[in-house]
Parts: sequence; C-alpha cells; structure tokens
Amino acid sequence: QSFSDLNLVPELIEACENLKYAKPTPIQAKAIPPALEGSDIIGLAQTGSGKTAAFAIPILNKLWHEQQPYFACVLAPTRELAQQIKETFDSLGSSMGARSTCIVGGMNMIDQARDLMRRPHIIIATPGRLMDHLENTKGFSLRKLKFLVMDEADRLLDMEFGPVLDKILKVIPTQGRTTYLFSATMTSKIDKLQRASLTNPVKCAV
Ligand code: AMP
Repeated sequence: QSFSDLNLVPELIEACENLKYAKPTPIQAKAIPPALEGSDIIGLAQTGSGKTAAFAIPILNKLWHEQQPYFACVLAPTRELAQQIKETFDSLGSSMGARSTCIVGGMNMIDQARDLMRRPHIIIATPGRLMDHLENTKGFSLRKLKFLVMDEADRLLDMEFGPVLDKILKVIPTQGRTTYLFSATMTSKIDKLQRASLTNPVKCAV
C-alpha cells in the first residue's frame, strides 16, 4: 500500500514524497482509512510509530476541503511534544496553506494571544495553557472546532491534566466534532476518557 492509494489530496501525497515517506507505517495504514471515512479513532501506538502523521494526514485532508480557522486542536502533555507535532503539521500542510500555532505553558500569553488572533487552522496546545486562553483571550473560542486530538493521552492523565481536559471538553462542540485519542497504553482511566469523549471509535493498535 502506498500514500497514493489512500485517496488523499495531491498536496498531501506530494508532501509525503518530499518527506521521503515511502509507504504508510502500520499505525497509519490502520488509522488513516477509517479516519478519512469520518470515524473517531483510538490509536494505540508508541512514539516513533508515525502516529503524528496518522492523525495529521486525515485532518489536513479534510482541511483542504473546508478551510476554516480553529479547525483542529491537538492536546499534548509537553511543550516539546507540542512543538514536534507542529513541525509535522507544517511539513505536511504548509504547501496547501495550512497554518498552525503552538500554545504551551511557559511562553508569553500576549504573544500567544496575538498568534491566536491570526486565526490559525490548527492549534497544538498543552491543556492548561489552552484553557487559560479560552477563559482570558477575547475573540478566541473553539465553538466551531471540527477535530480534537488527545495525543499521548496516558501521559496527559498521568500529568494530572484530567480535570482541565474535562473543562475543555465542556466548551467545545460535540455535534460535528471528530475526536482522535492516541495512547501508548490502554488503561481503565483511558477507557473512561474515551467513553466520555469519543463516539463509536475505531480501535487501531500496532
Ligand atoms: P512519530 O511516531 O509521529 O513521532 O514519528 C516518528 C518519525 O517517523 C518522525 O520522524 C516522522 O517523520 C517519521 N515518519 C512518519 N511517517 C512515516 C512514514 N510513512 N515513512 C517514514 N517515516 C515516517
């Protein structure tokens, strides 16, 4: 199987070629087809498996069809991971005009608020700082969000982000929202989170 078999927009196939992605990794081969069909996804995969592109590719493919600010939000447990996710979105999506921003703790709130006012398509965030902007940055909301990703959800929960995740889930749409949850492990806490946030998810394990 190759990326050109996946029914992706030409910009994405070309971006995969430019990045020297010869063929989808196992998690990509399992997750991308149901994601393109519109399913919610639970991905059980480690770092290094190509999991970031497994969720970035279906999101960017959909963004190509309906460009909209604040289209997708990816929650990650650490600044470093958020930055890596942004780099993947940019390398796959910049040729089609996708714009992303990283909203993480320890950085200047005012600079971030200004970045949010530029209406990026994709926000990659640590949960606490995202909630801070949702509460305090005028003109910013996720009311029209189409995709939510919880990446390394086991680490998000280990880092006590559970309560703020619950708060974020309350202020974003449930109708018309697609949700992806990626985790290295399946635990009872992850199961509880997935039941609270996903609808009929397809489980993709590698
Ligand atoms: P991740 O698991 O998302 O942290 O990705 C690990 C590494 O795999 C990253 O450096 C990606 O650029 C790379 N990668 C992702 N998808 C592919 C692919 N289909 N073929 C080759 N490398 C890939």
